[in-house]
Amino acid sequence: MVQPFTHFESPESKARFASLVEVSGIAEFLVRLAIAPATVEDLLRVHTAEHIERIRTESASKHGGDAGDDYSPFGPGSYEIALLAAGGTAAAVAAVMEGRVRNAYALVRPPGHHAVRETGMGFCMFSNIAVAVQRARVAEPGLRVAVVDFDVHHGNGTQWIYYDDPNTLAISIHQEQLYPVESGLVDERGNGAGHGYTINVPLYAGSGNGTYIAAFEQVVIPALRAFGPDLIVAASGFDAASLDPLGSMTVTSTGFSAMAKMLVELADDLCVGRLVMSHEGGYSPVYVPYCGLAVLEAMSGIDSGVVDPFIDLMPFPAQVTPRPFQLEPILAAVEHVRDLETKLGAHR
Ligand code: ZN
Repeated sequence: MVQPFTHFESPESKARFASLVEVSGIAEFLVRLAIAPATVEDLLRVHTAEHIERIRTESASKHGGDAGDDYSPFGPGSYEIALLAAGGTAAAVAAVMEGRVRNAYALVRPPGHHAVRETGMGFCMFSNIAVAVQRARVAEPGLRVAVVDFDVHHGNGTQWIYYDDPNTLAISIHQEQLYPVESGLVDERGNGAGHGYTINVPLYAGSGNGTYIAAFEQVVIPALRAFGPDLIVAASGFDAASLDPLGSMTVTSTGFSAMAKMLVELADDLCVGRLVMSHEGGYSPVYVPYCGLAVLEAMSGIDSGVVDPFIDLMPFPAQVTPRPFQLEPILAAVEHVRDLETKLGAHR
């Protein structure tokens, strides 16, 4: 007998994350933001009319459709849900930009960081982050935005949407040659005026907390300090976590917490605390909630008291002390950070 299973991109990890936010008690200290669906006008600032119309039409059919790569099926009505996801991230950005909250986490689904202008892919229909950022730029056209993507897959959508844009610094830390393959190489650096504003850190499979923290310390922090963003947006995927069925990394809740704290500190130093996290991948229904809660604790400064029940089950050395070879991809990216510092005249 062949037993059926669910698609890895299911609601489970997100629903359980939301439940843990409630059960942990942290929810009562957080501000719940009202959201509205993104509009077609919002989508058109990022995506082609053809892509939007194809998704809308397929979503209206009885059988639903696919985001664009035959691996990303969606059911009827998913267009409206995707509008809510993009609208959720946009609401988070708006609340932070208007100073109603200091930072915000958009727990949205479907994810967005693989969607390019003309198509969806990799379970993503529309680029939630780009839709949110471009709406903010209607009021502030010159808004300087740093996108830090720690999802285990390459943030190809964000990269290509902003490949020519010197006002958007797009950093992606991901597992090399995972998805999309041949994407997110360290020599993909932006084009024209945008050259130098795309930075990729393609890490080897097996990398854990120590390697990710090194990537933040050696790439993310100096790059953002050189760039000087008005807003930091993180593509918050938890598929670099141990126990993830699609990634092969070994990050734990401790590692995600450390990364989030560094982003909070950067935002405090550089842009009056403005930090938005937009949820991306993460396919372990049991572990994503604890990683997500650790990030919310770091962003809010509130300790829920909940202890990660899996942390002692994952004593991989790679979590803590990186092997020298695991740091090689970081060293390559550091060269590009130096170039950015020189270009922008930053003093370290
Ligand atoms: Zn992912």
